[in-house]
Amino acid sequence: MAISLITLPYAEDALAPAISATTVQTHHGKHHRTYVDRTNTAIEGGDLADKPLEDIVAAAEAKGDKGLFNNSAQTWNHGFYWFSLAPTSAAPTGDLAAAIESSFGSFDALKQELAAQGTAHFASGWVWLVEKDGKLSVEQTHDAATYTTLGGNPLLVIDLWEHAYYLDHKNVRPNYLKEVIDNHLNWEFAAENFGRGALWTYPA
Ligand code: MN
Repeated sequence: MAISLITLPYAEDALAPAISATTVQTHHGKHHRTYVDRTNTAIEGGDLADKPLEDIVAAAEAKGDKGLFNNSAQTWNHGFYWFSLAPTSAAPTGDLAAAIESSFGSFDALKQELAAQGTAHFASGWVWLVEKDGKLSVEQTHDAATYTTLGGNPLLVIDLWEHAYYLDHKNVRPNYLKEVIDNHLNWEFAAENFGRGALWTYPA
């Protein structure tokens, strides 16, 4: 059973104008698909061939297989990213809202921290909202680095690679971040991940 390219949980134009249909088509249909295809090529016929994606990422990291790690981790990161986005964004409620307040002071302060760290990250990477022992923090990873380096349970992620925003916002990453953070973060997805208290798994 090969790793699949996930089906988007919304229409390709549902995130526009923050993220245009053209960007989604290229990002999901070309970039993400290439990571999936390269992962499948690398595991074909071997002992990882029927394993879940999380096991493939862990095995690649453990044996220092950088090519397989990059492609499998990027497959996972992109799946998590597509579910971290939504056509509309409703502010968090319940236990997640309480944890945000206690960890950051306010929901606005969390949004500012995501924007600040997402802007500050040099070159390609990801900015995450992470839960560790009930406490929330904003963390960055570089290139393909993924949940294995966060030391906690990721709740949301934003892609900081230029391919995520360049067609729509050129070099102005802060505009992409502001529009995504204000209008397209899926706080219901974050609440599910928070409530589960365990790693989201890439759909089979
Ligand atoms: Mn990407």
